[in-house]
Amino acid sequence: MKVKILFDKDNKNKKLHVGWGVSFLVDGKILFDTGENGFWLLENMRILNADSASIEAVVISHDHWDHTGGLWELLRKKEGLLVYGCPNFSLEFKEKVKRLKGKLIEAKKVTEIAKDIFVSGEIEGKYKGEYMPEEALVVKTDKGVSIITGCAHPGIVKILKTVKGNFPKESIYTVLGGFHLVDKDKREVELIVDEFIRLGVEKTAPTHCSGYEAQEIFKNKYRKDFISVNVGEIIEV
Ligand SMILES: [Zn+2]
Ligand SMILES: [Zn+2]
Repeated sequence: MKVKILFDKDNKNKKLHVGWGVSFLVDGKILFDTGENGFWLLENMRILNADSASIEAVVISHDHWDHTGGLWELLRKKEGLLVYGCPNFSLEFKEKVKRLKGKLIEAKKVTEIAKDIFVSGEIEGKYKGEYMPEEALVVKTDKGVSIITGCAHPGIVKILKTVKGNFPKESIYTVLGGFHLVDKDKREVELIVDEFIRLGVEKTAPTHCSGYEAQEIFKNKYRKDFISVNVGEIIEV
């Protein structure tokens, strides 16, 4: 299955907007997160031939501006769009989705939203002392399950273990997204990489709030199985 990087912090094609937050298009039809800015997202989609008409649903990982920022322009463009969120997202978020005529689905538990594409369900997390629920996207192929994360505020290892618990027979193929390791020191990141290996994660694609230093640590350990993430590129999972 193909994951197209619509928005993130790095690009090779300088025409494409970059910034804070992520937006990944899965199998041409499920959009995971929307980056920080709707106009930038729509402009990247236009350049990358990602037609908003083919988007069946948007999955929002968590209620932070750099993940929800592009959602509002999309809803204005596409009334009635399905939006998956967690039950404990803020009232403000839920009301804004409804005001813009999006159809909000709050998935508490793991849910299949398209063939072989799942939301993880709400995973408890914290951000600056505040409760911050988050969900990941899970894609199942004959290579195993791949996990796509927003910021991983609950902890990237906790997310992997939650998904593994829901898909006990599957191996983990790729983990892509924000791992939120910017504030961790080298030793802590190394222990997390060890956990990835212990959990049998085959390929890693850390980006966004993973931090460049942590990216390097993953790169050194995973070598050919490290994937660098650039806007406009496609990652096969
Ligand atoms: Zn973020
Ligand atoms: Zn965040």
